[in-house]
Amino acid sequence: MSRYMSSRFDSLEAYVPGEQPQDMQYVKLNTNESPFPPASAVLDAVREEAGRLNLYPDPEGNALRDKLAFMYGVRPENVFLANGSDELLFFAFMAFCDQSRPVAFPNISYGFYPVYAQLLGVPYTEVPLREGFVLDPADYCGLGKNIVIANPNAPTGRAISAADIEEIVRTNPDHLVLIDEAYIDFGGENCLPLMKTYDNLLVCQTFSKFRSLAGGRLGFALASEALIQDLDKIKYSVNSYNISRLTAAAALATLDSNSYYLENSQKIQANRAYTIAELDKLGFETLPSVTNFLFTRCPAVDGGTLYRKLKARGVLVRHWDKAEISDWCRVTIGTREQMDVFLEKVRDIIKGAG
Ligand SMILES: *Cc1c(COP(=O)(O)O)cnc(C)c1O
Repeated sequence: MSRYMSSRFDSLEAYVPGEQPQDMQYVKLNTNESPFPPASAVLDAVREEAGRLNLYPDPEGNALRDKLAFMYGVRPENVFLANGSDELLFFAFMAFCDQSRPVAFPNISYGFYPVYAQLLGVPYTEVPLREGFVLDPADYCGLGKNIVIANPNAPTGRAISAADIEEIVRTNPDHLVLIDEAYIDFGGENCLPLMKTYDNLLVCQTFSKFRSLAGGRLGFALASEALIQDLDKIKYSVNSYNISRLTAAAALATLDSNSYYLENSQKIQANRAYTIAELDKLGFETLPSVTNFLFTRCPAVDGGTLYRKLKARGVLVRHWDKAEISDWCRVTIGTREQMDVFLEKVRDIIKGAG
């Protein structure tokens, strides 16, 4: 740190992204990307749009908002676009949380939530998950704070029902409830129908996982018009052109190729069931998952050792040095071929440890 940096960041601990090796020699199962490339129409759309890169993009993102609104049965005024849902989460923390509007989220969840709270000086509570990393909705009912919940949760892969979310939203009418649905398209139940009834619900989704566009950086929120206007106020005070032309073009073409992505999700779900069954045979404990990743614990070696031994064998998974989950690893579901390589290396490691 230089002597010029503001001391208000002295105790800030920045988010640590998963490793992104640029030589691509690993079987990469560490950051929940799709193993499938974007649809070919997306590549064509990007190439075509590149010729207009001398011009600023539409700051309102109207073409894309119209299309998302149509797909999700809402009005364009209910849609907000951001440079990845990470930016969206940041804007939401900025717009709705402060000293007198604290926030609560699970103690084991997406690592960016506490970082944004710290960055913005927002008091936060980490609500412990229950036995087996289960989220008990009762812990959030009538809490009297803003609430952020990833549903399905990461890195556990567990989800709660839309009825449970409704209870949380209904019993906190004076506070914002943000539901981060980054993984909703791999088998979870989305809570979008609740938007019509509750004006304190903000639903966030991303193109990074199900839609194979992590490199394009696009997240979106669906919420009441008033909440979207609040997010707009922040956006137009930070970066009005937050969605690049290439990203907007790619996203529009992505939405036109929905059946391709639905098929890919089916493949991921089949590979997920296959991988869980194979890990079961090896004595692993794996949480049920409605996402494109697994949270699993090896009977023979701790999580950190499994992570390092897999990396030494060319397979990257994610591990956290956090007491409650240090036994566990998060494994992204890739292609069947990738999962077979992963399983082969796991068997190899267990044999050595036995
Ligand atoms: C991946 C992820 C995000 C971030 O997605 P981007 O749109 O790539 O910024 C947000 N929340 C959760 C829970 C995630 O896993």
